[in-house]
Amino acid sequence: MHTEVSNAGVSAGSTLTFSTLGLAQPILRAIADAGYTTPTPIQAKAIPLVLGGGDLLAGAQTGTGKTAGFTLPLLHLLHAKHQHAQAGKPRCLILTPTRELAAQVEESVKTYGKYLHLTSMVMFGGVNINPQTARLRKPLDILVATPGRLLDHVTQKHIDLSGVAFLVLDEADRMLDMGFVRDIKRILALLPKHRQNLLFSATFSDEIKALADSLLHNPGFVEVARRNTASELVEQTVHLVKQAHKTSLMSYLIKANNWKQVLIFTRTKHGANRLADKLGKDGIPAAAIHGNKSQGARTKALADFKAGNIPVLVATDIAARGLDIDQLPQVVNFELPNMPEDYVHRIGRTGRAGASGAAVSLVDSEELKYLKDIEKLIKREIPKVVAEGFVPPAKQEADAPRPPKPQQQQRRPQGNGQGQKTGQAQKQTQPKHKQSDKPVSEAPRHQAKPQHKSNKPVSEAARHQASAQPALFSPKPTHHSGNRGR
Ligand code: AMP
Repeated sequence: MHTEVSNAGVSAGSTLTFSTLGLAQPILRAIADAGYTTPTPIQAKAIPLVLGGGDLLAGAQTGTGKTAGFTLPLLHLLHAKHQHAQAGKPRCLILTPTRELAAQVEESVKTYGKYLHLTSMVMFGGVNINPQTARLRKPLDILVATPGRLLDHVTQKHIDLSGVAFLVLDEADRMLDMGFVRDIKRILALLPKHRQNLLFSATFSDEIKALADSLLHNPGFVEVARRNTASELVEQTVHLVKQAHKTSLMSYLIKANNWKQVLIFTRTKHGANRLADKLGKDGIPAAAIHGNKSQGARTKALADFKAGNIPVLVATDIAARGLDIDQLPQVVNFELPNMPEDYVHRIGRTGRAGASGAAVSLVDSEELKYLKDIEKLIKREIPKVVAEGFVPPAKQEADAPRPPKPQQQQRRPQGNGQGQKTGQAQKQTQPKHKQSDKPVSEAPRHQAKPQHKSNKPVSEAARHQASAQPALFSPKPTHHSGNRGR
């Protein structure tokens, strides 16, 4: 049986209270401490279903309150079933695609479970495995993990998954995008047959449906409005600008508007580094966060940004995925993503949980086709605004090259065929934007990622994930110095 709820808004809006949902007193106290008064729509619908013991298929993105939507009822159920936690044998497993999301989810577990006697840990790759191994020797109820590192521990026999009574796949679509499907299947094979399964996903592709079919038994179904329909809280504008002038405009906007906390998205890791450096040289402290940075550097950059010690964080999509930074007022797309859904995810970093925010996109002539796709997805035109007072530098920014162009076949097919009209639409929407605005520098195009062989659309996250690989597989230099004979 399906219990279906759709088009519920992102912010808390129902008249229901947490206590009427039947959550245990210590959990209600923690919720009150967190300052929540009303369940968000996803919470109002998901919590009773999970408390009822059934499987759940939920369509919700970060920012809807989905984490509490599964964490609160699971804490209740684990608390209600008195059981002594065993070392290295968790009762609840929460899988997430990224390290940051795993850390955030475990933080939520701790926040909402602070008056309970339940234990939790988070594990992800990119950090020393030994402290995790040591932690696994102590009693453990709730494990939040990314799939790869979990399998490392499984292989090394540090962990026993035969006691998992509750499984959550959070952001399942991203996990599949990032190529975790085999890892997930390996993990599922290690779990006991009888357990409660919750699957959260922002999209429902055929792959997600297949995964849900194989995993869930008569699931309840809950869906809240996609962020693109809920993005009214985010004021969105576009500045049309040459690629070569973007860095100068970025500095100008930050200074002119006195932005104190701005998250900037670039398409590439290299671009993120370069922009953070340039802003630093302009006297604007900035840190970059992406997959090539060590976990320590990522954690520090995020903590500094959250604490307000640095005003600017430059991030790639994958690094920023799932980041929950309270009251983030300003997001900038330094380049537009080629997947319109990624735009929606990006601007979702602001205007969260009822707060208002602003998203500015710097768009050059070659990105107008992406803008068109985005406007189609969010079903509205984004105002094109002139950055008043900005005088483009007379000299082109020599080191402001265009990021690698995404491969055409990686773009999501538009279904109704309208996607092919982008060139034409571009002229209609932006007649003043001349082709001669194209930046001259073609140099960095050689950095473009190798072409994907399949015609399958690949998201920003998947490409970033893929781009972490070349360091491992890049061909060895052919000009060895003499003492390395073949
Ligand atoms: P999530 O979608 O789980 O990433 O949550 C997004 C943000 O909403 C987090 O900062 C939560 O602390 C916040 N939040 C979750 N539930 C509520 C609620 N019922 N009322 C207000 N804020 C909430």
